[in-house]
Amino acid sequence: MVKEQLQEVRERIEAACRRAGRDPREVTLIAVSKTKPAELVREVYDQGQQDLGENKVQEILEKEKVLPKDIRWHMIGHLQRNKVRQVIDKTVLIHSVDSVRLAEQIEEEAAKRDLDVDILLEVNVAREESKFGFMLEEVLDGALAISRFPHVHIRGLMTIAPFVENSEENRKIFKKLFQFYVDMKSKNIDNVNMDVLSMGMSGDYEVAIEEGATMIRVGTSIFGSR
Ligand SMILES: *Cc1c(COP(=O)(O)O)cnc(C)c1O
Repeated sequence: MVKEQLQEVRERIEAACRRAGRDPREVTLIAVSKTKPAELVREVYDQGQQDLGENKVQEILEKEKVLPKDIRWHMIGHLQRNKVRQVIDKTVLIHSVDSVRLAEQIEEEAAKRDLDVDILLEVNVAREESKFGFMLEEVLDGALAISRFPHVHIRGLMTIAPFVENSEENRKIFKKLFQFYVDMKSKNIDNVNMDVLSMGMSGDYEVAIEEGATMIRVGTSIFGSR
C-alpha cells in the first residue's frame, strides 16, 4: 500500500516538474512519517526514500534509534527551545525556525559541541493567527540577526500554506514566497544561502512544485490519514 502510494507521489512529482519545465532532481521529497510506526518508515526506506520528516523531537529520537543510520531526518514542526539540545545532532535540517531567540538557542547548544546546524526560516505568508513563523516583512531583519551566529546556517525558507479545498487557492502564496526567496538570494548575505524552498504538502505539493518548491513535505498521500 505505502509502496504504491509512494510510487504515485513520485510520478506526480515528475509530472509537475514536466509541466513546469523543471528537472525532477531539483525537488526533494520528504516523506512525513509523524504518528506512523517505524515499520512503515522502513517500507518507504526500502524504496529508497531516505528523507523523512517529523514534527516532534520525541518521535525523531525514538525512530532514529531503531531505523537505519543513513536516514536523513528533517525537523518540520514547531521546536521548543528546551528541546533544541536533544535534536540538533539528529537532523539534517530544521525547517521550522520561527524566531531569532530559537536560532540563538540553537547557536548556544551547537557551539558547545562544535556542530554546524542547517536551518530554514519558517514564514507565515498568509498571516494566519494559528500559525508560527516570521511575517514576510520580518524575515530580512531576522536573517541578518541569525547570520551572525557562526554555528547556524540559513539554507532557505519554509512555509505551511493554509488548508484549502482547492490547491489552486494556494498558488498565490507559493508565488509570493518564491519571489521573496529570489530577492533574498540576490542580497548575497554572508552565512545565508538561499538554496532550499520548502513548501507543499499532500493537498498542494504539485502546485508548489510548479511555483518553485525545492523540498516538499508529504505525509497523508504516502502513509494514509492520521
Ligand atoms: C504534517 C505536516 C506535513 C505533511 O502533511 P500532509 O498533509 O499529511 O501531507 C507537512 N509539513 C508539516 C510542517 C507538517 O506538520
